[in-house]
This record gives sequence, structure tokens and C-alpha cells, in this order.
Amino acid sequence: MAAINAPRGTRDILPSESWKWSHIIKTASETMMDFGFSEVHLPIFEHTELFSRGVGETTDIVEKEMYTFNDRGGRSITLRPEATAGVMRAAIENNLCVQGASAKIWNWGPMFRHERPQKGRYRQFYQIDAECLGIASAMADVEVIALSIEIFRRLGLKNLEVVINSVGCEKCRPVYRQKLIDYFSSHKSELCETCLTRLERNPLRILDCKNESCGRVADNAPDIFDSLCSECREHFAEVRAGLERLGFTYTLNKRLVRGLDYYTKTAYEILSGDLGSQNAVAGGGRYDNLASAIGGGKIPGVGFACGLDRVALVMEQQGCSFGKMPNTDVYVASLGDDSRGAVQILTYELRKNNIRSECDTSGKSFKSQMKIAGTCKFACIIGADEIANNTVSVKNLSDGSQVNIPVNEAVNYLKENL
Ligand code: AMP
Repeated sequence: MAAINAPRGTRDILPSESWKWSHIIKTASETMMDFGFSEVHLPIFEHTELFSRGVGETTDIVEKEMYTFNDRGGRSITLRPEATAGVMRAAIENNLCVQGASAKIWNWGPMFRHERPQKGRYRQFYQIDAECLGIASAMADVEVIALSIEIFRRLGLKNLEVVINSVGCEKCRPVYRQKLIDYFSSHKSELCETCLTRLERNPLRILDCKNESCGRVADNAPDIFDSLCSECREHFAEVRAGLERLGFTYTLNKRLVRGLDYYTKTAYEILSGDLGSQNAVAGGGRYDNLASAIGGGKIPGVGFACGLDRVALVMEQQGCSFGKMPNTDVYVASLGDDSRGAVQILTYELRKNNIRSECDTSGKSFKSQMKIAGTCKFACIIGADEIANNTVSVKNLSDGSQVNIPVNEAVNYLKENL
């Protein structure tokens, strides 16, 4: 029978890579804690309506990228394509933001989008996500942007660019939208097929189309800043001032609109000069209307999602440190079959005392065991003599020296010498 492979666009994160991911998640987790964000664990599937209403019917994600199916009860279920809508759903459902309360929460895990796979773009990919709910002030936007930058700083990423924009709000965006429709309608012949379909449905998306001809037209499109209402204008000025106060440099890109409908006011991305076309390592912004779109009243929010797969890729390319690779410190070897039981007892004792240790469970010869032990710092050897005397021979594998000590002193001896 033919072997079964993983579905297209998915991949296995194996031990050679997973320890690097652990380092990234640990760093993110510590940074989140320092910034006052608490971790949550949410479902990876939700009612489809959450995304069609929250992310938006006319977005690429909802139109063509969702993994949607009917479950056995006939309900339409979707594997989450992004985290924010689920976080907001959970906040509403669990009353996290009632009576003006705010919540700062983060989570990480897989997201699913049926996109064309390429380097840095997968159908199952992983995001680290942070959301600050219940605060309308621009100070929260600044805090969230600072948090994402700080995670990358701690990870040692270089050549990053912070790009920001304002996409307006429900008051001023309709005016801008109409201006775009009018403008792009007079340039139809220069737009790609996708953008022609976006024209009436989601004209803002034409602004960030990667097609060259669309880009040229978009360059001369009406400026969003001429349409922003005074509230959005002020909010954006405060975000900029806040970023500058913290010493961050950023670029303004008026064509940054992001692919999701729920964004209001601030939109931002962090780009890496070391990725190809999929160059965004994180993206986020403010979404003050998401809660009402999913039936939760008025809860402002601002957050970001960082692509774990891409961060790992960039770190690899830039030679960033992933910390110390986990290694076994002590190998416990049996000299002769009669001591295999004693070996397992000692190994368990060492492990209970947080000493990373390993022993053979498959019946390997002493020689083979010592070969494996070569990558460890110490080998503990137990043979007939050691069993008779209740001792263990501890060999320092870096200098070859060896001592014979009572077996019940092994933990202390190793702790002192490791
Ligand atoms: P988005 O939710 O589209 O704003 O994406 C946020 C971040 O997730 C991006 O900046 C990427 O780093 C990452 N990302 C989005 N889509 C994918 C994908 N298909 N494969 C890998 N990473 C992705």
C-alpha cells in the first residue's frame, strides 16, 4: 500500500526544529508576562459565523481560505484562520470586559488558511497572538506595538521595519471607500482581475495588491489621511508620538490596509528584510468594531499576531541564538545484563532530581551504550562489582577520569560536578 503523506501546506516540526520553537515561545511568554498579558487556551475550531461576521464576508480569508465543514450535528464549523475573533468571542462569552474592565491576553497555536503554499506560507501555520481588550486609548496601541518589538529584540532579530498606517473608522472609512471606488473605476483597464472583483466589494484591498500595474495605479490613489475624521487623526498622532517617546523608528505606509475587515484606526506590520515575498513577521492593529460585529456590544481592542514559522526562519537565516540545545548530561550504562534493573533505578533517581539522564532500554551491548554516552558529560557504569558493593562508577567523559562512589551519593556528586 502507498504510504500516506502529510497534507499539502502542512509540515512536521521535528525534534531538530521543535527545541528552537520552544525557545521562541518561552521568550514570547516571558515578554508577555513582563507586559502584564495572561495566557489563554481557546478552541481551534469555532462557528463559521464568528469569522464571516468578525473577519468580514469580503475578505480573502473568508471568501476563499477557510477550512469549513459541517460537523456530525450539521453545524458549520471552521478551523480558525486567525486568533483575534476567537479571543474576542471568549472575552464576550466570559464577561472579561464588563463595566469598563479591560483584559490583556495572549495565546499561541495553529491557524489554518487554504492558501497557495510557498516558503514561509503554509496551510497550517502557527501564530503567537496578543490582544488588549477594553481600552480605546492610543497608549494601548503603543503598548501592543512595543510588546511585539520587545519580543523580537529579545530573540535577537535584526533588519526589522515597523510600518504603520491608519485605516479610519466606521465614520470616515465609508467616505474614503467611495473615493477609492470612484478613482479605481476610472482605471479599470489597469487593474488585475482580482482587483476588479475587489472594486465594489473591498476597494481598500486594491491598495496593497502586489500586482505591478495595480501598484502603479494605487500609488496615485486618494490619500487616506485626507479622509480621516478628527478622532482618527488625533488617535494616529498619539500613536506616533507614543512610539517616538519610546524611541522606536517606524515607516508610514498609507497603502498598508491589512486583509481583515475588523481593523479600525491603527494598522501595523513588522517586516523582515530577510524574508522573500512573505516578509511580514507580525501584523496587527486596532479593531474597535469587532465586538459589535459578533454581537458583543462595544469593546475596543488592539493586538497583533506574530508568525512563528517565519520568525524561526528569519532567526535561522540571521544566525540568531536559540539558547542551549537540550542535551542529555548523564548516560547510565549497564556492564552485563544483570545490572540493567539497577541502571533503570539509578536513571529514575537522577531524573527525579532534575538531572537529564538516559539509559538503554533495548538491550544494547556495553560498547554500544558507551558510544551513545559519548555526547554526555558523565557516564555512570554499573556492573557486577558495583552491584555487589552498592556503588556506581562515574566517568567524566571530557577528561576520562573515573571515581567509584556509593550509589546513594550519585545524585549529589553529579549535581556538584555537572
Ligand atoms: P495575519 O493574521 O494575516 O495578519 O498574519 C499575521 C502573521 O502571521 C503574518 O505576519 C505572518 O508572519 C503569519 N502568517 C500569516 N499567514 C501565514 C501563512 N499562511 N503561513 C505562515 N505564516 C503566516
